[in-house]
Amino acid sequence: MVVVGAGLGGLATAVGLQQQDVEVVVLEARGRVGGRVRTWSENGHRADLGAERVDGDHRRVRALADRHAVPLVPVGQDTASLDDLVVFDGVIRTAAEVDQGSIGAEVERVAEHLSALAGQLPRLDDPTTHPDAASLDGRSVEDLLDDLATVGDARRIVEQDVRGNAAAEPGQLSLLGWVHDVAVAEAKPPAQVESHRLRGGAQRLAEGLSGQLSTPVHLATAARAIDLHDAGVRVTTDQGRFDADAVVLAVPPPAVRQLRFGGNVPAVIEQLAQLALGDITKRLLAFDTPVWRESGCSGNALIEPAGFATWEAHTPEVLIAYAGGRAARRLATMPLAELLAALPPAWRAGRPPEEIHTAHWGSERETGGAWNAPAPGQVRATWQLLRRPHGRLHLAGEHTAARHGGFMEGALESAERVVSELTG
Ligand SMILES: Cc1cc2nc3c(=O)[nH]c(=O)nc-3n(C[C@H](O)[C@H](O)[C@H](O)COP(=O)(O)OP(=O)(O)OC[C@H]3O[C@@H](n4cnc5c(N)ncnc54)[C@H](O)[C@@H]3O)c2cc1C
Repeated sequence: MVVVGAGLGGLATAVGLQQQDVEVVVLEARGRVGGRVRTWSENGHRADLGAERVDGDHRRVRALADRHAVPLVPVGQDTASLDDLVVFDGVIRTAAEVDQGSIGAEVERVAEHLSALAGQLPRLDDPTTHPDAASLDGRSVEDLLDDLATVGDARRIVEQDVRGNAAAEPGQLSLLGWVHDVAVAEAKPPAQVESHRLRGGAQRLAEGLSGQLSTPVHLATAARAIDLHDAGVRVTTDQGRFDADAVVLAVPPPAVRQLRFGGNVPAVIEQLAQLALGDITKRLLAFDTPVWRESGCSGNALIEPAGFATWEAHTPEVLIAYAGGRAARRLATMPLAELLAALPPAWRAGRPPEEIHTAHWGSERETGGAWNAPAPGQVRATWQLLRRPHGRLHLAGEHTAARHGGFMEGALESAERVVSELTG
């Protein structure tokens, strides 16, 4: 078998196949494994540029961490008594204050509405089973906010939440896709959502998986063409050709658009190539100390109209500025002085931070976005197609997961399905 892409989805597929005595070759375009799992570590600073948090019910990620002796660390334990902030138009309030007031009540009204829709979903592994699937998929999250007449600061909070969690603009996101995400999130206690991080960084999971392979991953070996024939499959790279019985395509949809397909090309390729991926930027600022703590703040803040959120990285002196959807590109190109001016004044005391890295995933050629963020109409049009084999072509990656799409857990979930398609 040939696996194209050494993110968690491709790597876990390859390890699973190897465990069933299947010979497998993994091709990876980048010079490293992990894809959207990447840990930045320099001068004692450490931050995850891609995936970072693990939920209580992400059992595959937890088992993988356990297998590779990567401890899970609770997030925010040492700042639990400090305040989260909402900084809108220069006015600083605590998140608790906002929650308790009229803005919080309106945000809660939207959440209850979504929760009621999510509660009608009979199967968490298939949003198309929702009794109103067709009408929900035909509408966007923005349509819902318009119907509910949510305006003002409450709307800004909900929209930032959607941009941060779905990586997309509310107007470009299928309401059915969002209702599915809400249903999956609500299947666990709130305290288990994004509750843990992986000590040393999420990249350790990818390194652990790749270390299990008996044939090393071919790094810096991008697949350029895939030919599917009755007798077998040929994957062409700049370094040579790889012939196999089947190919597992474990690359994000924007990377599929860069491949040439020949032979018996299944219709799913066109659907896959059109699938929407959101956008996220993470920008890392290294302070001398976590200066926000001195003013009683945890480092968690929502900041508008700059359009980003902040939190502490693995090493607490590193602040992550994070934006999704349209705001991702804006954050990636925002002059540092403008970014710093948007922070609460107390955080600007002392020496200005050093800018250590920016990851704008939408501009990375091998990824082209953040994670699956289906546009209106796309959930129902693609759901069944993306989750089954097409002759000698098998699809892996978070965008093909049934329950945990958008997460590391989803990439591992997809790998389990593909291994059983090929060996079950
Ligand atoms: C900023 C950000 C924050 C996130 N936060 C979280 C989080 O907190 N928790 C969580 O669980 N998940 C999070 N995620 C999502 C998580 O990272 C992904 O769902 C998961 O890592 C995707 O794995 P994958 O294998 O599907 O794809 P990828 O990791 O994208 O792997 C695909 C691989 O294919 C390679 N490739 C592309 N084209 C080719 C080609 N032509 N030939 C060969 N190789 C190719 C790429 O280089 C890449 O290595 C986050 C993602 C981002 C971007």
